[in-house]
Amino acid sequence: MRIGRFDVRIFSDGVLRLDGGAMFGIVPKVLWEKQKPADERNRVAMDMNCLLIRDADHVVLVETGAGPKLTAKQKEIWGIDGPPRLLDELKSRGLRPDQITLVVNTHLHFDHSGGNTYRDGDRLVPTFPRASYVFQRLEWQDAMSPNERTRGSYLADDYAPLEAAGKLELIDESVEIIPGVRLDRVQGHTRGTQTVRVSDRGETLFFSSDFMPDRHHLPLPWIPAFDLFPLDTLAAKKLVLRRAIDERWIVGFTHDLPRLGRISESEGKYRFGEVAD
Ligand SMILES: [Zn+2]
Repeated sequence: MRIGRFDVRIFSDGVLRLDGGAMFGIVPKVLWEKQKPADERNRVAMDMNCLLIRDADHVVLVETGAGPKLTAKQKEIWGIDGPPRLLDELKSRGLRPDQITLVVNTHLHFDHSGGNTYRDGDRLVPTFPRASYVFQRLEWQDAMSPNERTRGSYLADDYAPLEAAGKLELIDESVEIIPGVRLDRVQGHTRGTQTVRVSDRGETLFFSSDFMPDRHHLPLPWIPAFDLFPLDTLAAKKLVLRRAIDERWIVGFTHDLPRLGRISESEGKYRFGEVAD
């Protein structure tokens, strides 16, 4: 898809499965399972989406999926069946890892940052050797010192080696990382989660983060129990959805089928209408 001068693509690194109750928070199972059927372990399947943004001078990769370092046990727990697809997806678009100029993670949970690094012998090295990796400073701090509630979602091997490699670029709040690509901190899922907005020539594409992981989370009270600040998620959803409708943003989600669309509202209900990529 073109957004002004940018070529923007969305694709999946693979599928993971998380507990459906945790994904839908206070929403009763009788409601959410109509949208997302649960498996025998009560898990729902979700794609791990990555966004690729290109213009003549930059190749920006947003999210790197679950990556190649998970143990068999971790893959079993999270229902990740296949190998990571990220590098093949880039290759099919004519891109080698050393052509990526910037890597952005919306936050540092394992299913968004796992492909940042890989194991080379007994060393952990950046997968994208010429890229800077851009995270919110608060997310970095929280990921480097997780607590009892957050520990299960962070795997330091996905991001700690980037500091030693000199690849880290920490930002605060809202930053235009290249002309037309803006990152905004949105507290909700975590303190340092960031969203991505690509704007050029009057068109805007918005890439959500896990405060609104798929189209099933458009109804305002449908908020994951994973969110550390659910009322901030609620406030952010109201603001973002209003703007997405008023300004006719193209919206992509972190955990939907890889697809892009527009949001509309009628009789108090938000709807997602797919737009061809
Ligand atoms: Zn996620």
